[in-house]
Amino acid sequence: MPVPGAVIEARGVTRSYGSTPALRGASLSVAPGEILAVMGPSGSGKSTLLHCLAGIFTPDEGEVWFDGGRLDTLADARRSELRRTAFGFVFQFGQLVPELTAADNVALPLLLGRVRRRAAYERAHAWLDRLELAGLRERRTGELSGGQAQRVALARALVTGPKVIFADEPTGSLDSLTGERVMELLVGLARQEGTTVIVVTHDARVAACADREVVVRDGRVTDPYAGRVPR
Ligand code: ADP
Repeated sequence: MPVPGAVIEARGVTRSYGSTPALRGASLSVAPGEILAVMGPSGSGKSTLLHCLAGIFTPDEGEVWFDGGRLDTLADARRSELRRTAFGFVFQFGQLVPELTAADNVALPLLLGRVRRRAAYERAHAWLDRLELAGLRERRTGELSGGQAQRVALARALVTGPKVIFADEPTGSLDSLTGERVMELLVGLARQEGTTVIVVTHDARVAACADREVVVRDGRVTDPYAGRVPR
């Protein structure tokens, strides 16, 4: 059974790459609307945990729960659909199509979800405006600065109205001032929308924007709330 009130949970998750163990029994509970920073040394298993929570990887052992149901046991097609409709992703690099404009990139997840073209572009434009990018709608994202591109990536993650945003070192390629602005926008918009955010980072300033932080070490998580949300 899921923990009542948790939107997403890992329970005793293990995952190896061949003979290299990455997670060794990781448990974590995240409350709806919570902004959670996942910290820990390089190689401790943070990205692998994020990928398991998002249903991109399936655990070798253990369970992942989302919104009251098992995520890890769903068929691939159903997990892909959930990733498209209920989750948003912000990574350090590479999530935008550089040849497409900012508006095209943001409209893309909606068009893939069969939203009509006009409505998709209206919503994309509204999100670009909220992210202070109104003047750059028609610019190819390959021609944007790192900070501008990362704000387009935030618009693209938010445009479908996801329940959870997964961010993996979202400010890792930015200078500290630009990174702080990107985090402020992500956190501010997530709070307005009631979106849960799980952000992997080793930047203490990024973690300072979160409601709470957990630490991953040697494939395990220090989460005093694991298994006992609500709080
Ligand atoms: P973190 O995000 O904390 O840096 P990762 O989850 O990326 O940690 O990696 C955890 C462990 O798994 C590390 O020992 C890493 O070397 C190993 N690992 C990660 N990805 C792969 C892969 N594709 N193939 C083999 N080993 C991997």
